[in-house]
Amino acid sequence: MNDEILDWGIAELQRRLDGREVTTVEVIDAYEEQIAIQEPEIDAFLSLDLDAARSRAAVQDARRARGEKLGRLAGVPVVLKDNLCTTTFPTTAASKILEGWIPPYNATVVDRITDQDGIVLGKTNLDEFAMGSSTENSAYKITKNPYDLERVPGGSSGGSAAAVASRMALVGLGSDTGGSIRQPAALTGIVGFKPTYGRVSRYGLLAFASSLDQIGPLTASVEDAALVAECLMGHDPRDATSLQEVPPTLLSSLAEGVRGVRIGVVTNLVEIASPGVQTALARAVDALQQAGATVTEIRLDELAFGLAAYYVVAPAEASSNLARYDGVRYGLREPGATVEEMMIATRTKGFGPEVKRRIMLGTYALSAGYYDAFYVTAQRVRSLVRAAFDRAYASVDLLLSPTSPTTAFRIGERAADPVEMYRSDICTIPSNLSGDPALSIPAGVDSDGLPIGVQLLGPARSEQLLFRGAYAVEEGLR
Ligand code: GLN
Repeated sequence: MNDEILDWGIAELQRRLDGREVTTVEVIDAYEEQIAIQEPEIDAFLSLDLDAARSRAAVQDARRARGEKLGRLAGVPVVLKDNLCTTTFPTTAASKILEGWIPPYNATVVDRITDQDGIVLGKTNLDEFAMGSSTENSAYKITKNPYDLERVPGGSSGGSAAAVASRMALVGLGSDTGGSIRQPAALTGIVGFKPTYGRVSRYGLLAFASSLDQIGPLTASVEDAALVAECLMGHDPRDATSLQEVPPTLLSSLAEGVRGVRIGVVTNLVEIASPGVQTALARAVDALQQAGATVTEIRLDELAFGLAAYYVVAPAEASSNLARYDGVRYGLREPGATVEEMMIATRTKGFGPEVKRRIMLGTYALSAGYYDAFYVTAQRVRSLVRAAFDRAYASVDLLLSPTSPTTAFRIGERAADPVEMYRSDICTIPSNLSGDPALSIPAGVDSDGLPIGVQLLGPARSEQLLFRGAYAVEEGLR
């Protein structure tokens, strides 16, 4: 029975709950058993509270028995990337500087999940402050890829991805500044969605690069991603960049198909991918053509320049955002004879090497004399990336590319060479720079049995069509 429970998507789970075939407490028990088996090997969690989850489940069972109508995520076990503020769990961003810190408020997305009766099991590992592509930059532990324990799950939302991929949760939330939802989804064989900038509130997300950050779901299927996205999207007055408009519905149009939809394959991003990834992409193209889409090839060289621009813009914003961790207001404080010495000691001890590297890069790029050479130039390249997308969307409706040029790499393999690690994001970064939505969909495995993801990209606010495309790929590759 337990194994069967873990196979259910959200709709199926709720049918069984409504039909009284299973109780919510039994669902949580099944996930607890799976966590007991998997977590010692995977190391996805930074905190876990199954007793609290079980009490919430019991309350839901009682409400159901009274005939109450429950929310859209009733009974769904959810895990949260540990850079989302929660009043019931510590929020560390996988950094020593926030060890044990319990925020005084919840991120808006956390409230939206629990308002819909989602059941939060715990918080998941990430690269410290979401800076990385492998989850190796966590100050606490290294999360392993469920397909091969010697490999990384991707990052920075690697804990949420690995938890969902190993069926320790049905839904994971992640954040995506340069690919941190989509790349780990690709490397662990699940779906990951980054919404249009402003679609989902960033209130209560520990800021990395505010002009690029978005929160989104990681799930086993496109349908589950659509449902969770519907719960998360929508205006929030507490985020000044939140879109005012009513978000589109996704679920009800999923099966409308892609007949006549024009899709451009970004050839220059395909060329840099490994042979296995290229083969998978060709299968996705086939699936879309079978479903009636018109697929053409399109070269967008500017997208690849986005990588260099991102590694100026993101560290610049990070250097400002991370100035608040000063030993006074949150978490760690190391003693010092003066306030300045205290701050230096705290930040020296509290931040890991990658975070320090980003703060230094960003501070340098913003400093007088270098600002024009680096920051302004990077912003110009950002405009070029936007212009390239505009050019593309004049003739196609959606774009298709690999999510990551390679499948999961070995733990340690890229750790010594930051630039090699940064290159992991070359396909995902452009849509953060432009603020457009994008999705990674599983597309089989390579010759080593490692998962491959393909990425669908759309113009701002095109989520409805994007999800229809994703569903068509998923169906076609089944
Ligand atoms: N890997 C990228 C970085 O290290 C993106 C991270 C993210 O999206 N949070 O900056």
